[in-house]
Amino acid sequence: MSKVMSSESWQADKRHWMHPWTHFDSFKDEGSLMLTRAKGARLWDEQGTSYFDAVGGLWCTNIGLGREEMAETIAEQVREMAYANPFVDMSNVPAAQLAKKLAELAPGDVNRVFYSCGGSTAIDTAFRLVHFYQNCRGKPAKKHILARKGGYHGSTYAAMSITGKSGDKIPEFDYIQDTIHHLSCPNPYRAPAGMDEQQFCDFLVDEFKQKVAELGADKIGAFFAEPILGSGGVIVPPEGYNCRIWELCQENDILFVADEVVTAFGRVGHWFASEDLFGVQPDIITCAKGLTSGYLPLGATLFSDRIYDVIATGDADRYFASGYTYSGHPVACAAALKNIEIIERENLLSRVVEVGAYFEQRLQTLRDLPLVGDVRGKRFMMCVENVADRNTKQLLPDELNIGKWISDRAEQNGLIVRPIVHLNVMSPPLTMSRKDVDFVVDKLGAAIEHTYHDLQ
Ligand code: PLP
Repeated sequence: MSKVMSSESWQADKRHWMHPWTHFDSFKDEGSLMLTRAKGARLWDEQGTSYFDAVGGLWCTNIGLGREEMAETIAEQVREMAYANPFVDMSNVPAAQLAKKLAELAPGDVNRVFYSCGGSTAIDTAFRLVHFYQNCRGKPAKKHILARKGGYHGSTYAAMSITGKSGDKIPEFDYIQDTIHHLSCPNPYRAPAGMDEQQFCDFLVDEFKQKVAELGADKIGAFFAEPILGSGGVIVPPEGYNCRIWELCQENDILFVADEVVTAFGRVGHWFASEDLFGVQPDIITCAKGLTSGYLPLGATLFSDRIYDVIATGDADRYFASGYTYSGHPVACAAALKNIEIIERENLLSRVVEVGAYFEQRLQTLRDLPLVGDVRGKRFMMCVENVADRNTKQLLPDELNIGKWISDRAEQNGLIVRPIVHLNVMSPPLTMSRKDVDFVVDKLGAAIEHTYHDLQ
């Protein structure tokens, strides 16, 4: 963020807090935007300037911030029992009730819940569960993982190794390499020249088949994929892709792991996107973010009795030696239950379908602006890709940091949109109104125009 402040907290932040994804160089000069208050989609910084947060925190403040009801629920649970040991045979009421609720909402036969502390640990758990399951069923060779370039799955060692975003693969970090394979990014905008969407889909399906043939289905444990890629550029894969890959996974005895950390809990108008948008019934689902709308940290890895029965039967001494002190944290689970109740009571899923159509339609008008190469996404998960040349789709030099340039301009006009290199990404609270949509699109459009003029 570009705003230079001087308060004691701002100085403390700059001096002592090393943030996730710190860009050492710019942080040294600019520091952070110090936020102090939030209500709905509105944020205030410590100087009292207000912003519309079209990013929804980090794809997570689904019901909007500052709700009294959430504060009450959280306070009540803290008074009642702020913590409970989740290991082995100890439990707590909110975690048990939430597991039941998630089993009701999840697609297909998914009905088991393993709690973690966020999206990365939900993915890490899914990765370990795949190993555990394949070993238990006597298929220890099935350890290879397929994922996609452009996919983002978090920042534990395993999650970042599964991640396929080249920009996040920093050479100073190490990654698991020999058993994780990244297939092409299913981005229709960047399909090889001359291919239409259907041909591109066939190409991706063929590539998947070839990879299975090359490695051998008996060596592949799982395929990890976001139904719509999020921070890799809000990429809706070509029509039919998710379902065809799922069918191939079923034919080849490969577990389909849907990373719904962003797409679940209403972001695209459904509890889970896999089945409702794409007709896929995953074997394993990871979720976090919108599960508590960011009020408290919580993640979950969901799977079915099909997997549970395999890992739970056989060797009597076997146990699932995985989990966290804060798995099934009662306060986080109570917050998640209330969050889900609010989404249901306020019909936020239908609202996202309705207002999301308007958001898509209004954002598409930005295509007329210079710099805008693509406007894409689904409902409340949208993105603008900026390019140097709309015909060739050639990008501007990375060093220009065009996304940040535009986001900084937007921020000066009270709008927060997330820059990711060439992109400006949006994932607003599900409560966003049509009037808010107009504000977001107008301010973003103005920021793009302003930036274009800056560059001349
Ligand atoms: N999976 C996806 C699709 C994500 O977008 C993210 C975070 O943005 C994660 C996993 C990691 O979640 P967390 O940051 O809560 O660990």
